[in-house]
Amino acid sequence: MDVILFGAPGAGKGTQAAILAEKTGLVHITTGELFREAIRQETELGKQAKPYYDGGQLVPDRLTIAMLLERLSQSDCARGAILDGFPRTLEQATALDEALAQEGKAIDKVIYIQVPENELLGRLSGRWNCRQCSSVYHERFQPPRQAGRCDQCSGELYQRDDDKPETVRRRLEVYAQQTAPLIDYYRAKGKLVEIDGGKSVEEVAKGLLAAVEGS
Ligand SMILES: [Zn+2]
Repeated sequence: MDVILFGAPGAGKGTQAAILAEKTGLVHITTGELFREAIRQETELGKQAKPYYDGGQLVPDRLTIAMLLERLSQSDCARGAILDGFPRTLEQATALDEALAQEGKAIDKVIYIQVPENELLGRLSGRWNCRQCSSVYHERFQPPRQAGRCDQCSGELYQRDDDKPETVRRRLEVYAQQTAPLIDYYRAKGKLVEIDGGKSVEEVAKGLLAAVEGS
């Protein structure tokens, strides 16, 4: 059972992948870890990927896919894996499918944790920092007693550029534009399962488990 997990920034994908991995025994594979591990072990592919990774460049798709296939063939992945962070483009998705097909394999399910944009915006853009003591607050999850003032030192609270609604909205738009073709692609293949990610962590986890086990 090989599963791809999609979710916008703020959708709780990382948390959910960890819970799902623990409950199912599937191995959680993020591309970052995949690269770092191959480079650390100095595998043939790791050596090829190293200059790109170290230089902050995109690792070519053929290398990433080769590393993924190698990883999926390792014994701890016998029950399957949760792919997190790859594919990101339609080209990558079709190349991955072709490579898997050559080994007689296929992605079984693609799970999309869907959260309304307003909810994501609220989760991601509510952070405020204290100018004086660097305490961190969140409008919703950890509000200061007095708006705009630090509980600890009464310092002024401000938002970093990354936490401002307009920045977050742009990030979410980029994600949606990038992901939409992938979602359509996997939906057309009958592999897409959409999960309501607006619920509590426990409820979303339940939904994910049902999606994976209901095969
Ligand atoms: Zn403070």
